[in-house]
Formats: sequence, structure tokens, C-alpha cells
Amino acid sequence: MIILDLEWNQGYDKTVLDEVLQIGAVRVDRLGGPITDIFCAFIRPRVHKKMKQMARYLPELRRSLDSETTFPEAMGAFLDWCGEEREFGAWGSGDMEVLAQNCRYWKMEADLSKKVWDLQRAFSITVGTGQSVALYRAVEYCGVPAPFEFHNALNDCVYTAVVSQWITPAAIDELSSPAWVKKFTWTSEPEGSSREIGPFQTARSGLNSRTSRLMSCPLCGEKGWVIQWRSRREGVYFGTFPCREHGRFLVRFVMSPGEDGLFRGRLSLPPLTDATIQAYSEAMKGQLHSCKALGGRRRRRGGRRRSGDEAREKAS
Ligand SMILES: [Zn+2]
Repeated sequence: MIILDLEWNQGYDKTVLDEVLQIGAVRVDRLGGPITDIFCAFIRPRVHKKMKQMARYLPELRRSLDSETTFPEAMGAFLDWCGEEREFGAWGSGDMEVLAQNCRYWKMEADLSKKVWDLQRAFSITVGTGQSVALYRAVEYCGVPAPFEFHNALNDCVYTAVVSQWITPAAIDELSSPAWVKKFTWTSEPEGSSREIGPFQTARSGLNSRTSRLMSCPLCGEKGWVIQWRSRREGVYFGTFPCREHGRFLVRFVMSPGEDGLFRGRLSLPPLTDATIQAYSEAMKGQLHSCKALGGRRRRRGGRRRSGDEAREKAS
């Protein structure tokens, strides 16, 4: 397994690029095993001249600024070093994406679709917290001596490799198949009950709409309501709805504004795939949108219900 870490300068102008300043990596023969090889490259920034907040305080920024190495050179050397390795790990989930972004910018061909274990999440699962634990905190928690500075990509990889000794196999299992997977009923169709809905005036009204929230069980047709949506990426929402007989289903709602400014969306029951697991796990860490007025009440007709709903809306 290769554990990698990057330091980068956040893009701040029209050029959308989080410019990589350092690639660090260590090789271990198994998670928690000894480090058998290391890789480190400091990269001279060529795109963004100004260092943004985080980058400005990198302890070894000078070594990037003084470096002769370009991103394509460093990346080429890194890929050579990786060889045929298939398993990757990182503290957090963003590094491979940033690497891919830089490759696209420099028009480099590199297959970065590799599976990267988020060791930060695995650590959180191991110690039983729902929060993301900063690397230095994990090091402190494990009582590991910290003679090297943090925020040097190579040092951070070394710390990640050492702290990984504490990660349990059960936590790694949960990363590949989280506990919530078993709580849902999954349909065999690739995109079950997919349908287009809208238009809506605003994204919010789309999320609150009866049409986006009243779902039918794909097995028996019983109606169930989505009462909240979770979203980490704009326009992609996840919710759930129950069927008394068949359990709870996961719904994905993708919605975006059209040229007329109105929002249209597509509802579907996502299949159980790695992509779904990744997307829903991310969404759970994101924003919560509680829908206005519980839908089930709308089935009853009559004036009293309506005033009750309005009161609830004002109160919320
Ligand atoms: Zn059902």
C-alpha cells in the first residue's frame, strides 16, 4: 500500500487550480506495517504567484519556491515510483482529486481512478467519533512522539503510516461497506424508479415539494415520504423513505437550474455501488435540509390541518 499526502496552494483567481507544492508518499507492505520506501518532491509553483493563507504557513514552503522541479516532472517520477501498486491510502479524501486536477491542468495522462482508503475516516471509526480527527490530534491520541513538523507532505505520510497501526480491520471493512448499507433495502434495477420532476422556482422549493418527497416502494407501491435531504455537493441530494413491509430506501435527487432559471431534477433509487457508497457517505457529512411540514399530514383534508401546518411553518 502507498500512503500519499500533498501540500498545495489554493486557487484564488480565474484559473481553477489547487496547485500542488509537494508530493509525499510512503510505501508499507500492509496497513500498520513498517515503512519500506519513501517518495518526496517539492514543486515550484508556476501558476499562482501569491501564496494563500494555508500555503503561506507551510513550514517548508521555501523548498517549493526554490525547487527546479515542475509538476509534470514530479508527477512522472511519482507514477514511476508507484509502479503497479493498486492500494492507496491518505489522511482525508481530497488528495487524489487534487492530483487529478493538476494532471488535467498540465494535460498529463494518468490513471488516478485508483481506490484510496480514507484513513482519517477509518481512524474516526476506530476511536468511535463521527468527527474528522486532525492528524496531529491522532498522533497525540496514540501517544506517538512527534519530532517532525506537520504539514510537510512526507512527514504527514510517516505519521499517517504510524497512526494506521491503531486502525482496526473492522474500520476498514466499514469503509468498503458502511453500517448504513445494511439499514437500507436495495433494488436490483440499475436506476430504479427514475423520474424527472420540476420545474421549481428555487432549489429550496424543489426540496420541499410534494413531488420530490412522495415516493413509492419499488416492490409494493406503498407511498413513503422523504423528510430530510443531505447534500455535500451542490445540486446532489440524498434522502430516505420507508415502506412498512420492505424497509427503508435511499433516494438520490439531482437538481440544477436551466437556462430559464427554473430548477428541474431527477429522482432515482441509486444502485448499491462504490460510487453510491462514496457519494452518500460524503453527503452525510454535508448540509442537512429538513423539509417543511411533514408530508404525511397532507393526506388528511380539512381546515384544521392547514392552519396547523402553517403554524408549524412559522415556528420553524
Ligand atoms: Zn413495499
